[in-house]
Amino acid sequence: MGFKILELKLPTGFDRQELEQRIKKKLKTVEFSYTIEKQSLDARKKENIHWLIRVGVSSPALRGPGRKPQPGLEIPFKKRDKKVLLVGSGPAGFFCAYVLVLAGFKVTIIEQGSRAAARLNRVSTFERTGQLDENDNYAFGEGGAGTFSDGKLTSRTKSISKERNFIFQSYIEAGAPEEIAYLAHPHLGSDNLVKIVANLGREYLRRGGVFLFNTKVRDIYLKNGIVEAVETGSGKIEADYFVFAAGHSAYETYRLLMGKGVPFRVKPFAIGCRVEHPQELVNLGQWGCSALPGVKAAEYRLTFKDNAYMPVYSFCMCPGGKVVPAAPYKGLNIVNGKSNYARNLPFANAAIVAGINLNHLLKKEVDPLNALEWLEKLEKNFFALPGSYAAPACKIEDFLGGRISASLSGSSYPFPLFPADFRDLFPEPVCTSLRAGMQHFCKKMKGFEKGIMLGLESKTSAPVQALREKGGRSAGVKNLYICGEGGGWAGGIVSSAADGIKTALTIAQP
Ligand SMILES: Cc1cc2nc3c(=O)[nH]c(=O)nc-3n(C[C@H](O)[C@H](O)[C@H](O)COP(=O)(O)OP(=O)(O)OC[C@H]3O[C@@H](n4cnc5c(N)ncnc54)[C@H](O)[C@@H]3O)c2cc1C
Repeated sequence: MGFKILELKLPTGFDRQELEQRIKKKLKTVEFSYTIEKQSLDARKKENIHWLIRVGVSSPALRGPGRKPQPGLEIPFKKRDKKVLLVGSGPAGFFCAYVLVLAGFKVTIIEQGSRAAARLNRVSTFERTGQLDENDNYAFGEGGAGTFSDGKLTSRTKSISKERNFIFQSYIEAGAPEEIAYLAHPHLGSDNLVKIVANLGREYLRRGGVFLFNTKVRDIYLKNGIVEAVETGSGKIEADYFVFAAGHSAYETYRLLMGKGVPFRVKPFAIGCRVEHPQELVNLGQWGCSALPGVKAAEYRLTFKDNAYMPVYSFCMCPGGKVVPAAPYKGLNIVNGKSNYARNLPFANAAIVAGINLNHLLKKEVDPLNALEWLEKLEKNFFALPGSYAAPACKIEDFLGGRISASLSGSSYPFPLFPADFRDLFPEPVCTSLRAGMQHFCKKMKGFEKGIMLGLESKTSAPVQALREKGGRSAGVKNLYICGEGGGWAGGIVSSAADGIKTALTIAQP
């Protein structure tokens, strides 16, 4: 049985039969099996948008060796009596715990929020009443910040291919569509994620893992460079290893770690707004038509670089989705985006952010606690202006023209929009850079100026980074690991989960 890779171009509305016909024609035989290895949309020429598909084909008609087996993630299992305690059930904490359970450890995940279904109810109540639950919201609860998201599984992090395959395979076994294994821009959708997160949780429990939901770590017993236990309010919990995967919204947890002398440094991050457009306008701009068979909704990625400004770029684009109020704590205003698997809602949204270096922006050496304080103050200011979770907003055209919008409509955001002058909210260099970037994007994407912008987008990545030794161990603390987005070494679902897996493999090293 020989093996061959075929690169095929197929129309957007192709079906499996058409694909198989094309393979048959290329191989000149009907005896073959195949797997799609990669599928990406080529929309460079609007008059000829098509899928580029790479298939791996095995057939007796092919000469040469068969398909080489792909090396998988090696998890060293043995009977162990060591206990590991993880803080946070987001992608980093969960995948770290899952791998540790598979390696034979006694593992407990502590999560301040609830199981996904109960969390979903609290999020719906918040959107109906404006009453935020500080433990169950878009940032906190089972599955972490990624549960009610677009579930985009793209990651630019290098050297995580084994971890990525393990994550994707785990998602597929938990109910994700198989296409995530080969699509260039795979995504799960919020509706799928709630079920996948719950199924993954069940599998972890079946393998002997323990969850403590509605349990918050409030203190750490750290003595002579060793963590002995954590305090949860309902008791002290001891373990041999401690992994903090608390995400980058958990200011209290950061402050707790920093207060105990766990070393962090300030790192570059980004702030800005979410822009929202009618999806049809994005489809027209990107494809030249309002719909394409076999493709859900058009996406975009925009970047602007000019030495006179901060870099400005789009991030976390959610086609056919919704802008959501993602504040983790009362009195902060933060927006983010999500979509369901079908991506069929009438609006598209994306973050447009300016990359900042706080030391340069504030023209002084900033320490990690100051960085958190600075960001939290900005999040508070965005709440203080409307005095609620109404989002400070502006039409892009008005922002470019230096005006406050007289009226605002056409948004998926569940709370009202509050006409605002972003010059009063952002530091001047951020505002100027966002304006220059958006001017550029208006030239790049037809109709971009017709959108609206809502603030504040402040969670593209963490403003601080844990100092780690090789293998992810916290510098100077023998049995403490800080991983995922909160550690400042990952950003997004896949890279955070991969960082969690790498941490687990370090702990499991013989
Ligand atoms: C609305 C939204 C949409 C997003 N969309 C995408 C997307 O499409 N694709 C993508 O790649 N990324 C997306 N992201 C970002 C992604 O969710 C994060 O990068 C990822 O979840 C980070 O994983 P993590 O495990 O490091 O931390 P988190 O997911 O933040 O999880 C941390 C967990 O720790 C818990 N915790 C914190 N402190 C304590 C404590 N003291 N005690 C107990 N528990 C604690 C929190 O409750 C939380 O559940 C989105 C985020 C949001 C909010």
